[in-house]
Amino acid sequence: MEDTYRHKGLRRQLVKVVKSKGIKDQKILDAINKIPRHFFLMDSALVEHAYQDKAFPIGEGQTISQPYTVAFQTEKLEVKPGDKVLEIGTGSGYQAIVLLEMGAKVYTIEYQKKLYERTRKFLPSLGYNANFFYGDGSQGLPRHAPYDKIIVTAGAPTVPSALIEQLKVGGMLVIPVGDSRAQKMLRITKVDEDKIRKEEFTDFAFVPLLGKDGWS
Ligand code: SAM
Repeated sequence: MEDTYRHKGLRRQLVKVVKSKGIKDQKILDAINKIPRHFFLMDSALVEHAYQDKAFPIGEGQTISQPYTVAFQTEKLEVKPGDKVLEIGTGSGYQAIVLLEMGAKVYTIEYQKKLYERTRKFLPSLGYNANFFYGDGSQGLPRHAPYDKIIVTAGAPTVPSALIEQLKVGGMLVIPVGDSRAQKMLRITKVDEDKIRKEEFTDFAFVPLLGKDGWS
């Protein structure tokens, strides 16, 4: 698939839209400007869709998140170069690439085998390398813990305690929590081994987090 001037123009428009919704971090805007989101479409005839600020299907009943949502979660995560970041819900790999563009070392786990297999091959073909895992991310990824940051890209019924346990002191977890219709974005900071600070932001609508501490 090609990345033409037209695609680049559509991306610049998308950056303007995301910026107009309040995203300020220039590194995130630069990442959106750089990543060819149309490469993630299953149907290349739908290229216009790739540069609308919308989620779209990626197979297995899952979606690539809306660019604004990706940008919002990334901004709240306050990613610094060298941060060890765990992403729950690899999906298409788009969010993982944004984190890599921020300079993070990325560990990403996916529950759907087909998506895991597709994305772990697809990202290196674009020149990006993350650490890919298949399994139930509602339990985190204990064998590589602790993490500086954890991002959950599916809607959870509650905050899984395993994720807080796997954060470093000073680390942050960004997670949408709510019911099947809407979830509030939460940021949990691990202030101390046994103390957290919780902040609440606006509502979003994600596909459900599955697994032991998810909806199934
Ligand atoms: N970050 C993804 C992207 O950039 O495309 C978003 C994908 S989608 C909104 C959420 C993903 O979470 C889906 O791929 C879904 O299969 C995955 N998921 C749901 N429950 C999970 C779990 N318990 N562990 C790991 N992944 C899970």
